[in-house]
Amino acid sequence: PSLHKQRHQFVMDFVTKHKPKKVADMGCGECKLLKQLKFQRNIELLVGVDVNGAKIKKEMYGLAPLSTDYLQPTYEQLHIELYQGSVTQRDARLRGFDLVASIELIEHLPLTDVEHFSSVLFGYMSPASVIVSTPNSEFNKLLPGLTGFRNSDHKFEWNRSEFRSWALKVCWDYGYEVEFTGVGEAPHNQRESVGFCTQIGVFHRVQGSDLCNRLHGSEVEEVFSYTLLYSITY
Ligand code: SAM
Repeated sequence: PSLHKQRHQFVMDFVTKHKPKKVADMGCGECKLLKQLKFQRNIELLVGVDVNGAKIKKEMYGLAPLSTDYLQPTYEQLHIELYQGSVTQRDARLRGFDLVASIELIEHLPLTDVEHFSSVLFGYMSPASVIVSTPNSEFNKLLPGLTGFRNSDHKFEWNRSEFRSWALKVCWDYGYEVEFTGVGEAPHNQRESVGFCTQIGVFHRVQGSDLCNRLHGSEVEEVFSYTLLYSITY
């Protein structure tokens, strides 16, 4: 399967294993991952956010229930919401999630915005688990004909140690633990030296660390900076 599919499958496998009820996809783009996630029966609330509202609008009707969905007696109630908004801005409707995915998003942000993203996602939204994926620049030498970044819109591509430094700082600042993994394997003899094509960090909030955050959160004003584009209840 393509790398794109492997990344989404990674999230699907996580959801199958951990059964989160509230799941958000930050930088959901064409809603491809959401369209797969809606078949995960454990999910009760599924939210997508992207700064590019036009991209969401083009594909969002694909999230509407199929007539056959109503014939499935095992379907639990599912609510889906899509928002136009930036991951660098807070929105109270995105707090309290079990899982937030951010697939191939951070490399599209200027580094100063990555800081805002970290504080909004880990500090403010403070979900129980987070999956972040981004290109591993060490793998680029194995991609034929590639000069520069993999995509012209990328603001940076990190090697494993750069990704690790960012992730460990996030853990330290906001009370999370992280495991590093990835998808897209290098040939056998280069696995260690190059790493995965896509690097992935799986973060878990350390027990109790959301307490001070919640107390802090209750004092701050509720902010609603995202625009609701689509909402449906199955
Ligand atoms: N996550 C999707 C996937 O796995 O296919 C899309 C990845 S695409 C490479 C990056 C997405 O991030 C684009 O849809 C873009 O509009 C979105 N994006 C870029 N900056 C953003 C921001 N500040 N806030 C929210 N989304 C953003």
